[in-house]
Amino acid sequence: MERLFRILINYKIKYLIPVLLLIGMFITSLGIIFTIYFIVDNTIDRQITNGIIYHRNLILYILNKNTKIINGNQQLQKELFYNDLLFHSNNLYHIFIINKENSNIVFSNYKVFQNRNFHQILERYKDSLAFEWNDILNAKSYIEKNKKKKIYKKNNYYFYIEELNQDYWLIIIYAFNWFDIFNIKNITILIIVFIVLIFLPFWFFFYFYKQFYETRIEYLLNAVEKISEGDLSSMVPVIGNDEITQISSFVNRMKDQLKEIIFEDSLTKVLNRKGFEFYSSKLLTLNKECAIFFMDLDGFKYVNETYGHDIGDKALQIVAKRLKQLCQANLLNAKMILGRIGGDEFALLIDLTNLKEAYLDIQIFALKIIEDISQKYEVQNITFNLGISIGIAIYPEHGKNLNELLTNADLAMYQVKYSTKNSYYFFDSKLKSFYEQKNQLRNELITIFRNHQIQDHFYLVYQPIYNLKLKKINHIEVLLRFQHPLLKSYPADFIPLLEELNYISIIGNYIIKKSIEDLIDIQNRLNEKINISINISPKQIIDKNFYKDIMLLYNTYSKYNIKTNQIILEITENILIDNPAKVLRVINSLHDIGFSFAIDDFGTGFSSLSYLKELPVKYIKIDKKFTEDLVLNPKTELIVRSIINLAHLLGYNTIIEGIEDYITLKKVIELKGDYVQGYYLTPPLPKEELINFLEKPENYQLDNIFLENH
Ligand code: C2E
Ligand code: CA
Ligand code: CA
Repeated sequence: MERLFRILINYKIKYLIPVLLLIGMFITSLGIIFTIYFIVDNTIDRQITNGIIYHRNLILYILNKNTKIINGNQQLQKELFYNDLLFHSNNLYHIFIINKENSNIVFSNYKVFQNRNFHQILERYKDSLAFEWNDILNAKSYIEKNKKKKIYKKNNYYFYIEELNQDYWLIIIYAFNWFDIFNIKNITILIIVFIVLIFLPFWFFFYFYKQFYETRIEYLLNAVEKISEGDLSSMVPVIGNDEITQISSFVNRMKDQLKEIIFEDSLTKVLNRKGFEFYSSKLLTLNKECAIFFMDLDGFKYVNETYGHDIGDKALQIVAKRLKQLCQANLLNAKMILGRIGGDEFALLIDLTNLKEAYLDIQIFALKIIEDISQKYEVQNITFNLGISIGIAIYPEHGKNLNELLTNADLAMYQVKYSTKNSYYFFDSKLKSFYEQKNQLRNELITIFRNHQIQDHFYLVYQPIYNLKLKKINHIEVLLRFQHPLLKSYPADFIPLLEELNYISIIGNYIIKKSIEDLIDIQNRLNEKINISINISPKQIIDKNFYKDIMLLYNTYSKYNIKTNQIILEITENILIDNPAKVLRVINSLHDIGFSFAIDDFGTGFSSLSYLKELPVKYIKIDKKFTEDLVLNPKTELIVRSIINLAHLLGYNTIIEGIEDYITLKKVIELKGDYVQGYYLTPPLPKEELINFLEKPENYQLDNIFLENH
């Protein structure tokens, strides 16, 4: 039924309804008329037939007893009268017994007709009787022909004719009375028919009609309500061809428009985070195998800071365009959803259903992305390069929902960032435990700093730096260590966390204070002047109190025979990335009062040389990365040689870190490095051990090497 209504609604129902109603009413009227006719016909036939048969039997019964006295039979008259009362008939009836020969009425229930001629009577009462001799003749021949039917019907009259014997006819004529029809039973039937025929179809019709409209309005209401709550996922079904239909399709279009406005990243014209999440979640609910790429640009921050945000924006646009083109190239024949989900972060969801060798295919695709993104960028006559680090997570293996997948792909991406960069990495559960440990450490650090327990969990170690020219140790580097009964953590893990938690300045001040105290002690006990290198994090130097704090600390200890030029602050090249002007100002003012600076991890950052000009440095520390394969790789040797030469030309000293063996040390001496530091001499040592170490020069005598060299 409902389907029928849906079909009906597809035509303009508002025009259809009156027509349908009219048809309904017509059918109803016909129904009522037929019912009435049926009732009337049945009632009359039954009642009149009964009446006629009753009267006929009564007459025959009485006449059988008094056949001789037919004429004006008094008893018959009386019986008919009483029985008439008993019979309660409202019908008019005439009973005639007629002499065949002369047509005289020998008996009639109306006394006035008795002994009159039947023809004359008919003639005389023509107008009131409304039947004629002809009708009686017709009745006679009809009854003779149709043996079974004894009653002939014409208009409102029922005729019964029987031969009583060879002399007489018995004629009974009934005229039907309308009032007989309207008894209670018939009226009840009529009312029921009326209800059934009129109310039921109308009720039916309106019930479904209403229900149909109401459901559609409810759909609309739900959709609009959801939109108002910011949920743009459901569509209003568009059924029929009326105003509701139009509103429904408008609402759908409105929603699409809204989606475009809300879900598009205005800068790159790809989906924004919200859009990416919306469409990806939708795809994930289909339970298809998917891969999610979490992609972070390498070197974007540098471009942004160096060339300004306009160039940065352009770079993002080009990156998005390249990614979009790759997605649209249909290399994998897979549905893809691309979005920019953060500053320089993009995400890509790939439906793996149609891929035969999904794992291989997505790796090839990842490589293609890396290749394309690594192509040169040219914006307003500036040329630069970018890389991209991709973390990959697979649905449903690596996450039940989008959030989990993104987190895990992000973790995998970080793995790339910390290693090679410009590469891809799959998530695995080990990463998760790494992440969880990191979280645990983060929480622990928060507790430690809140409870002022720095001294319980952090301590300092010192690694000597050997002066190759003076052939002695007059320089140490202070390094931070973390101790905890349950957690083990190295500076590479906890330093970034301390930076993230904004504890780096607190711990930085602690290190400066404690290491200067230690230095005073060491100097006193060794009776020798010693320089100290202190690592300064970029986050620390941009702290507005950095200069003030360091001056305060220094002033406290200056009376203990410590000069500013004994303190070397180790900074990395990327120290200038955030707020270079301010950092330079701080560095210059510290330099002005005598502090020295060393560039740590030289050669691992972006544009080492351009920074060198700006910074007032005294030392360049050549990173472990170069010492590792110094003896094995001629290219590395060349690089280190050039750095040392360049440093000397510019008047800087070089400290070569990470010397672990004899041959590397020999090589460094050969390349004319100034200072060396590394496990070959000693790993970093706690203060007491350091003093012990330094007290015995045989521990670190490198004389034999120099002898060999000469
Ligand atoms: P870095 O400043 O380059 O420190 C040198 C790192 O090399 C130290 O690691 C040291 O223990 C290690 N090392 C020294 N000789 C050798 C060697 O021969 N072979 C190898 N493989 N490693 C050697 P550590 O102490 O784990 O520190 C790692 C990094 O954490 C440091 O790199 C530095 O950037 C940072 N860091 C350490 N202590 C502090 C600190 O007090 N403050 C700040 N801001 N950063 C610190
Ligand atoms: Ca250092
Ligand atoms: Ca270093």
